[in-house]
Amino acid sequence: MLEGGRRIFVSIGSNLGRREENCKHATERIDASCRVVRMSSLYETEPWGEKDQPLFVNRVVEIRTALSPFELLDLFKSIETDTGRTPSYRWGPRLIDLDILFYGDMVIDDNVLTIPHPLVHKGRFVLVPMVEIAPEFVHPVLKRNMSELLCSLEDRSKVRRLVS
Ligand code: AMP
Repeated sequence: MLEGGRRIFVSIGSNLGRREENCKHATERIDASCRVVRMSSLYETEPWGEKDQPLFVNRVVEIRTALSPFELLDLFKSIETDTGRTPSYRWGPRLIDLDILFYGDMVIDDNVLTIPHPLVHKGRFVLVPMVEIAPEFVHPVLKRNMSELLCSLEDRSKVRRLVS
């Protein structure tokens, strides 16, 4: 299958069960269908939005794939289901959470898919790992790169890099 040339970034998160293993397993599952070309360290992060829940482990991966954004969303939903994720409330605890952050410079605002992901420029749990692997990548709507967005971020939640 031909891969597109777009830079596609995905956020992987878990705050239930074996959080680091869940993130590593999801990375392998993604790599089996799409090519993971870069991945950040794992970070332990304070939950965004709903604070009263366990700390998350997060990472960001860059992938290459010929799958469309909607096909990618379907793939991620099936990986989430296979990993044993059951429905939770918005921003609630989860075994695994896969979000499409960027699909090149594509902008989608649809009932089921919003790209760039609306939390990208709001949370340190996304921007810190994004800056680790793609500091110069420019947000296609805000027209600022990841380092600039992190510098101007008001979110002060804790993000700690885990040594693997
Ligand atoms: P969440 O609670 O974060 O797992 O949200 C899941 C739902 O968010 C999915 O069923 C998608 O329809 C929707 N969604 C909207 N934009 C995105 C995106 N960029 N990546 C992943 N899911 C998205």
